[in-house]
Parts: sequence; structure tokens; C-alpha cells
Amino acid sequence: MSGALLADVSQPAAEQPTEAEWAAAVSAITRLPADGRILLICHVNPDGDALGSMLGFGLGLRRLGVRQLQATFPGRPEVPEPLQALPGLDLLVPATAAEPDPDLVICFDVAAVSRLGDLADRLDRADAAIVLDHHASNTRFGGIHLVDPDAAATSVLVEKLLARLGVPLDQGIAECLYVALATDTGSFRFDMTTPAVHEMAARLLATGIRPGEISRRIFDTRPFGAVRLYGDVLGRAQLEPLAAGGRGLVWTYATLDDLARHGQRPYTLEPLIDSVRCTAEADVSCVLKQVAEGEWAVSMRSKGPTDVSRVAVALGGGGHRLAAGFTGYGSAPEVVDAIRAELARGATEVGHGPADLQDQE
Ligand code: AMP
Ligand code: MN
Ligand code: MN
Repeated sequence: MSGALLADVSQPAAEQPTEAEWAAAVSAITRLPADGRILLICHVNPDGDALGSMLGFGLGLRRLGVRQLQATFPGRPEVPEPLQALPGLDLLVPATAAEPDPDLVICFDVAAVSRLGDLADRLDRADAAIVLDHHASNTRFGGIHLVDPDAAATSVLVEKLLARLGVPLDQGIAECLYVALATDTGSFRFDMTTPAVHEMAARLLATGIRPGEISRRIFDTRPFGAVRLYGDVLGRAQLEPLAAGGRGLVWTYATLDDLARHGQRPYTLEPLIDSVRCTAEADVSCVLKQVAEGEWAVSMRSKGPTDVSRVAVALGGGGHRLAAGFTGYGSAPEVVDAIRAELARGATEVGHGPADLQDQE
């Protein structure tokens, strides 16, 4: 993605990693004794980039001979079903079982400490912390920053660090990094899909991994209950052509009862925003996902003209110009009222230049 165009509203764009930072990261890893304890952490509710980057790097560390190695993420120790066949899953431990006193912590796809939940204390306890990330809004927590807002996925930084460590790509590592790259580029559809992204994909594919099989498993396989659930949720979508200063708003919501009725887990709702945002008549799309009574995880997207991160930040959340979110409170109509009001407030502002769909996590 183009960091300059996509800079998060709340933070200046971060610099790219310097040679000194790369060298510090390599040395933090290679100077560890053979029994050094390394803890890998990715963000809460991990997506394909978070898990793929973390597990791909974990497999690389294993190849380097690291023995005391754990991978984890905060919250429920639940891996979304489409990601349950990722190589390296045996590295995962629940957050409650994560090493309390690691020598080295490495974070993946984590823009802020808040995304580490109860695992944030490991940053203070470890001797060193490396942060691999590509969010423009990265708050520069931790000690060694490998943060590149121009990288299409965190896995881009993982591939570079593995190369500097002298770890060759094998099929396990390549599959993890491919899933990460394909996830954050929308399967190589978004504008951030640069020649360098395709060159990286070519290196990964050259290991012999099967893109058709991987994509089918990750993106195109759902239980029948999910298909029926999508029918219910999409069937109640509302189009408001006059909202967002006439650019149009389309929204829908999914309740805990919807999930229970169809026997589905919350992560099943994540792809729904991609169906809702297809709506030609609306620039802004929203999906409200009920988390608890009166609490909603809200996903927002824009095709370009509207800065949804401004709306999300105003409502207590964050994200990128074209992909943002927040936690909404009250009934679904009340949350949409708040969104509509914020959109109306922003509609008088001057629009921004062209931009692509930033990574969503
Ligand atoms: P999502 O709609 O969940 O795919 O998220 C889109 C973008 O919004 C990501 O960059 C998230 O980090 C950000 N985001 C979503 N929910 C929140 C939240 N509650 N607080 C801050 N950022 C959020
Ligand atoms: Mn990412
Ligand atoms: Mn992510």
C-alpha cells in the first residue's frame, strides 16, 4: 500500500526500518543462548497475516535451532477454522500457558500494546522485544521496530528478516507467508499489490506450494450454516443513498442469536463486510457484529471518497482511511445513528486523493 496516501489520521506515517534496526533484530535473535526462551505474539482475534507471519517466522526460528519457542495471542485460544491447517500450528500455546519470563518477545501485525491484551506484560519482562508490523498507526511500542507502513503485509517484513538470518524458504514457511500476503492484499486485488508483492509471491510459490488449494481452504470454504447465516444477515442490509453527504451508506448487523441459530462462531462473520461493500450505490459500508448485549464490533469500509478512520476514531476506534472499526454501544439502530451523524459531520470536508484498501488488521 502507499503509506503516504494511507497515513492513519491519528498518527504520522512511520519511517521504514533502518539498517541499524535490522541489525539489532538479527543480533537480538542470534546472541541468545541455545536455551534462550523466545515468545512470539500476534494480535487478538488473529487474521491470516497475524497468524501466518508469526507461524512462518516460528518455523524459521525452528530451522535455526531455537528450541524454547512458543507462539501465542491474547484472548480466547481459538484459531479460525480456515486457518486451522496452517503449518506450524503446533507452536501455538494458549495465552494462559505462555512463558511468563521470556528472554525475547517478537510481535507480529500488532499496531498498539492494546492489541496484546493480557500478554502486554511480557514486553516489560523480556530482555528485548522486536516488533514486525506494517500499520501506519503503529505506536512504536517495544524496543526494536521493524515497521514499514509501505509493506503490503507483516509477512513482507518476516521474509526480509528470515533472509537476513540466513533461513531459506521451505514449503511450510512459504505457505504461512503466502496466506498472510494473500489475506492482506485481498488475494492480490488491492492497490498495494505492487510488483514487489508479486515478486515475493513468486519466491513463495517457487517452493512448490499450491495456491489454488490454499486459497480454496482459506477463502472459499465455509460450512453450510455460514451460507445460511450470510443469507439472513445480507437479507437485512439497508441502503441509504443520501447518507454520507450523498455518497451513500449500506449497513447490516449480525446478532449473537444469528450465530447461535446457525451454529457458527464469531469469526465466520469477518468476510461479510466484503459482500456488503460491493454495493455500487454506497461509498461507505458497515457491518455491526454483536459481541454482547448492547455491544457491537463495527467494521467500516469506504471505496475512496470517505475517510472511515476519521469516523471510527471519532467513535472511539481506529484503523485506516478505507478500512476502520470501533466498538459501538446501544442498539444496532443507535450505533448506526452515531455513524450517520459522524458521516454527515465529515461530508462537508474536502475529499482526499486516490487510495487503496489498506490492510485490515
Ligand atoms: P476490521 O473491520 O475488523 O477488519 O478492521 C478494520 C481496521 O479497523 C483494522 O485496521 C483494525 O485494526 C481497525 N479496527 C477495528 N476495530 C477497531 C477498534 N475497536 N479499535 C481500533 N481499531 C479498530
Ligand atoms: Mn496485516
Ligand atoms: Mn492483522
